[in-house]
Amino acid sequence: MGRGTGLHAGKRKCFFFAAGFSLTVSDKRYNLSDTNVPTHPTLLRRRRAARVRKLVAQVPVLAGSLVRIAKHCGRPGCHCQKGAKHVGWYLTRPVQGKTQTTYVPQEMLQEVQGWIQEHRRIKQLVTEISELNRALIRAYVTERKRRGTRS
Ligand SMILES: [Zn+2]
Repeated sequence: MGRGTGLHAGKRKCFFFAAGFSLTVSDKRYNLSDTNVPTHPTLLRRRRAARVRKLVAQVPVLAGSLVRIAKHCGRPGCHCQKGAKHVGWYLTRPVQGKTQTTYVPQEMLQEVQGWIQEHRRIKQLVTEISELNRALIRAYVTERKRRGTRS
């Protein structure tokens, strides 16, 4: 039983580019009701083995999210002081309680997006494997109790 664990609703973020195409980041979290964690140790181990096999990064991984930010550049006399701000993509991630922001050039966006998605895929697998291992511990304890009362 996967009792007592948090259920997270899946959410998706959509990023739109000025050029007219969009990138979609799947931010769906591990959902227990979707996965239906089995109770039998053999099934748990089989499912865990399948997840562990997928636990290899296909492309480099990158922790963080892409956000579009409009900024004043601070250069004296730049048009952004009066008119439209400079709009660009930034990688953000929490580092020691603060948000670290890194500028990402337009031509790197798709590659960076791929790294971020791969990081999310690996993170999801780690969550699932952890949940299966937790279920294995519980199954072991349940079995030991059952045996203990009989012998
Ligand atoms: Zn400027």
